[in-house]
Amino acid sequence: MAISLSGRLPAPLLITPECEAPGCSVTGDQYTMVRCHRCGAWFCPEHIDAEEGVMLVRPPSSALSSLSYYRGICARCRQASERARTREHLSPG
Ligand SMILES: [Zn+2]
Ligand SMILES: [Zn+2]
Repeated sequence: MAISLSGRLPAPLLITPECEAPGCSVTGDQYTMVRCHRCGAWFCPEHIDAEEGVMLVRPPSSALSSLSYYRGICARCRQASERARTREHLSPG
């Protein structure tokens, strides 16, 4: 994903989260990072489960449009929910 910051930053209120995946030190902003809606942590696109999809979340007020961000589910939470589903399926009795 190419990012061009051609000198015009839209707003002073810029979130610069760091990827929470272990061993990953990618830092981005709310437009390049995705927030996991399960654990609330930020992840780079590589550590977000693409199959679950990613959606753009916009705050209700258009005045705060600079606060929109991407929401998805991280690979870890995805695996956890998958495991829970499997366990349910395989549970004896
Ligand atoms: Zn998560
Ligand atoms: Zn990452």
